[in-house]
Amino acid sequence: MCYIAASIFFVFGLKMLSSPATARRGNLISSIGMLIAVVTALTAMSEIKWVWIIAAAVIGSSVGASAARLIKMTSMPQMVGLFNGFGGLASLLVGFSEFHFKWAAVETIHTFTMLAIFLTVLAGAVTFSGSLVAYGKLSGTLSGKPLLYKGRNIINTALLAVIVALGIFFCTRQINQLEGAAVAGVYILLAGIVILALVLGILTTIGIGGADMPVIICLLNSYSGLAACAAGFVINNNVLIVSGSLVGASGFILTNIMCKAMNRSLANVLFSGFGSAALTKESVYEGQVKPVNVQDAYLILEAARNVVFVPGYGMAVAQAQHVVRELGDLLTENGADVKYCIHPVAGRMPGHMNVLLAEANVQYEQLIEPQDVNPSMEIVDVAVVIGANDVVNPAARQDQNSPLWGMPIINVDRARTCIVLKRSLNPGFAGVDNPLFFKDNTRMLFGDAKKSVSALVAEFKQ
Ligand code: NAP
Repeated sequence: MCYIAASIFFVFGLKMLSSPATARRGNLISSIGMLIAVVTALTAMSEIKWVWIIAAAVIGSSVGASAARLIKMTSMPQMVGLFNGFGGLASLLVGFSEFHFKWAAVETIHTFTMLAIFLTVLAGAVTFSGSLVAYGKLSGTLSGKPLLYKGRNIINTALLAVIVALGIFFCTRQINQLEGAAVAGVYILLAGIVILALVLGILTTIGIGGADMPVIICLLNSYSGLAACAAGFVINNNVLIVSGSLVGASGFILTNIMCKAMNRSLANVLFSGFGSAALTKESVYEGQVKPVNVQDAYLILEAARNVVFVPGYGMAVAQAQHVVRELGDLLTENGADVKYCIHPVAGRMPGHMNVLLAEANVQYEQLIEPQDVNPSMEIVDVAVVIGANDVVNPAARQDQNSPLWGMPIINVDRARTCIVLKRSLNPGFAGVDNPLFFKDNTRMLFGDAKKSVSALVAEFKQ
C-alpha cells in the first residue's frame, strides 16, 4: 500500500512539474513520495544492518546537502549531469553486487534476472561514463565541440553489437552447470561488459556537442531511469521499477521536446555530429556594430509600449534575474506591456531560465512561448536580450551552412529595436558568430548584464 501511495505521489508530482505555476509543489510532492518509498523499502528488508544504512545516509546526505548549498547557480547544469551519472553508477553497483551475492551463494539465477542484471549494468555504465563526459563539456574541462573521427558510427554500432553478444552469452550461464575456472569466468565476463559499456558511454557522448548538449543531457537522464527500472527487477522492488520507468519515460519525452526545440530528429543529433562547423567571419560581418550607452538605452526603453525580455545563459552568469524583474516592473509602471520569452534550450539545463525567473518572482502570466511571440515580433517595440546568444542567432534561419541551421530561434532581429546586453562580441555555447549584433535595428549594451540592468533601473528611478 505504501509503494502504491509513493507511486501516486510520483505521478502527481511529475504532472505538476509540467507547469511553472505548480512546479514547486510538484517537486515537494515527489520528494514526499520518495521518502515514503525509501522508508518502506528499508523497513521491509528483514536482514538489514542499520549501522551501514545510517552511516551511508549520513555521509551521502552531508555531501549532497553541502554540494547543493555551495554550488554556484551557474554550475548547476554540470551538477545535475553528475547526479544523473551517480544514479547510473548506483544501479550498476546494485546489479553487480546482486550478481555477486547470488553467484557466491551458488544460487541458480533465473535467466530473466540474469537479463535484468545485464541491462542494469549496461544502462548504468553508459549513463555513468556518458554523464562524466557531459559534466566535462558543461564545466568547460572538455571542449564543447563534438569530437568526430572517421567511422565513429560504425565503431559505436560494432561495440554495442559485441556487448549484446556478450550479454546473451552471460544470460545463458548457470552456476550449477559450470565448474572451476568457468565459474570465475562469468565474473570476468560481467566485468568486461561493464568496461565496454563505459567505453560506449564515452564514445557516444564525445561525438555530440555545440547546441546539441541539452538533448544528450535529457537522454542520459532517461537512461539513468531505465537503469534504475532494470535494477528494480534485479532486487524485486516494485517502487524502483515504477520510479525508474517514470524517470525513463519522462526523460525521453523531454529529449523529444529538446529535439523539437532544435528542429532535429534524435537520430540526427546522435549520429550526424552536427554543430562542428564554424561560420566564416565574412559570412557574418555585414553591417556595423552600434554600441549604446545606458542613458540612450534608457531613452529607448522609456518610450517603448511593449517590451520582450529574452534571457539566456549570460543572465545566469551575471545573476541578473532580480534586477531584470525590477526593470520589468518599472517598465510596467511606465505603461509598457512586458513579457519574458524563454527558449527551451536557453541556459545550460532544461528549465534553467524558468528557475531563475521564478526565483525572482516573475509572474507566470508574463511568460510567453517563442512560437506565440515570433509571429508578432514586428510590432514589438523593444526586445531586450539579456546574455542570450545562440537562441537569438538569425543564422539558424538564414545560413544553411550554420551549425545552428534549422533550430527555431526567438526572432528578436525582427523587433523594431533590439538591445543586446553582453560583455563582448564573443560567440555563445555553440561557438557560432551572431549576425544579430550587426543588424541596423540592434543596439549593443556592452558590459556585465547585472551592472547594465542595475544602471537602467537607476535611470528609471531618477
Ligand atoms: P549562449 O549562446 O551560451 O550565450 C550566452 C552569452 O552570455 C554569451 O555569448 C556571453 O557573451 C554572455 N554572457 C556571459 N556572461 C555574461 C555576463 N556576466 N553578462 C552579460 N552577458 C554574459 O546562451 P543561450 O543563448 O542561452 O543558448 C544556450 C546554448 O547552450 C545553446 O547553444 C544550447 O544548445 C546550449 N546548451 C543548453 C543546455 C540546456 O539544457 N538548456 C544544455 C547544454 C548546452 P559575452 O562573453 O560576450 O558576455
